[in-house]
Amino acid sequence: MSSTAATDPGPAPAGGVELLGLDESGLQRLFAELGEKPFRSKQLRQWLHQRQVFDPEAMTDLAKSLRGKLQAMAEIRLPQPIFDRESEDGTRKWLLALGSGNAVETVYIPERGRGTLCVSSQVGCALDCGFCSTGKQGFNRNLSAAEIIGQLHYARQALEAEGRSRRVTNVVLMGMGEPLANFNNVVAATNLMVDPYAWGLSRRRVTISTVGLVPALYRLADASHVSLAVSLHAPNDALRDEIVPINQKYPLRELLPACENYIAQTPHHCIYWEYVMLDGVNDRDCHAEELIERLDGIPSKINLIPFNPFPGTRYSASPRPRILAFADKLQKAGFITTIRRTRGQDIDGACGQLVGQVINRRNRGKKSKQSPAV
Ligand code: SAH
Repeated sequence: MSSTAATDPGPAPAGGVELLGLDESGLQRLFAELGEKPFRSKQLRQWLHQRQVFDPEAMTDLAKSLRGKLQAMAEIRLPQPIFDRESEDGTRKWLLALGSGNAVETVYIPERGRGTLCVSSQVGCALDCGFCSTGKQGFNRNLSAAEIIGQLHYARQALEAEGRSRRVTNVVLMGMGEPLANFNNVVAATNLMVDPYAWGLSRRRVTISTVGLVPALYRLADASHVSLAVSLHAPNDALRDEIVPINQKYPLRELLPACENYIAQTPHHCIYWEYVMLDGVNDRDCHAEELIERLDGIPSKINLIPFNPFPGTRYSASPRPRILAFADKLQKAGFITTIRRTRGQDIDGACGQLVGQVINRRNRGKKSKQSPAV
């Protein structure tokens, strides 16, 4: 385990344009306002996201006048580490300070032939799913698109500095927050992740994980075509209402068609369902049978997640044989089913353990009343 101390970057200077968070259309709008040609946007994205050159003066193929304009208005800052830890299994977790006294967690999970970065989209979360420790923290604020993509920049620099040639090949928005409750910023950041002039990852390698905000799911099908993981966790409304309270607003009879619409409108062939295994709550044979019926006809892959307990939770983890039996039933019914390997548990980097180690400002000890409409 290693630890790095750093300072909070402090509040952002007012008025600066966060260039790092502008996707192709955002930059083109900006360049139109500046009276510049749209193709300059490609060059700028390459400088920022591929070469990680942030000083406009060093962008030698841009006209001097444009460099001057960018210099005058640009605001480019990466999140700064408060601490960083490495698990025995190689998982690396950073607590990153944003410019406003808030911090989020970003986790790098190395696997054979790939490296997945789990990024945060909000400081805290308003949805309060009973089994998730981030929800217990309450909602604080949305991350800007620059702060979301900034986590990739930070991770790349930190991994390069290790000298072990570990790279980010996949990104999952499964850190703190509900990505679809921060829609515009998440879409801009994921656009940059799949943009050949920025991060150039394939759409299959960028995954938004959502609790299932139905109107946002329809909008997402129009706005972005990244992979979709949906936190299902229960096969019927009565149980899901309890485990995932937003289900009371967006029940399964609305959620499932919204997911089918996503497959129909995008190049993806299936939905990845996440299902956290809670002892005696949703892990019985009858739940597996109901799930099989419920998902019948929807192209699906199911990921069973062993529950990671945290202090104060009323849930406990299903025993391993129960998870295996549940998986077996789903597989026999024809569903591709995987059991998530728990990684980084010794550093609190596993799913649901991403509660900030610092108490975020404006939210000390109590839930924020500033929950966004979802
Ligand atoms: N808000 C998004 C992202 C949340 S985190 C969503 O709901 O999908 C990503 C996954 O981790 C979700 O499936 C979430 O339900 C799961 N998770 C949260 N807390 C967990 C815990 N304590 N143990 C196991 N999985 C957990």
